Amino acid sequence: MADDQITTIGKCHVCKRAFGFTPATVMTVMMDPGTGLPLGMTVAGTFREPTPEAVARSVEEHICPACVDRAKELHKSMNAAPVQFDTWPRSTP
Ligand SMILES: [Zn+2]
Repeated sequence: MADDQITTIGKCHVCKRAFGFTPATVMTVMMDPGTGLPLGMTVAGTFREPTPEAVARSVEEHICPACVDRAKELHKSMNAAPVQFDTWPRSTP
């Protein structure tokens, strides 16, 4: 026995493939069935504080490591422009 972690078989919410995971380490998202979007995300792609109703009806979905990697790559390509913090406009009195 290498370790005593319990492996569970679940279905990936993104690609619908079955995959084995350990509940402690798997990536999960809270999906709001009312909108079909992750909890707190608006149809415009922005985040806002979810309503108590949305929290109550949301369900936990699992994401397989392949889809997590794909999401990270997508996120990287969308944030390709370096963020600069040294050009804040300064008002002179
Ligand atoms: Zn997947």
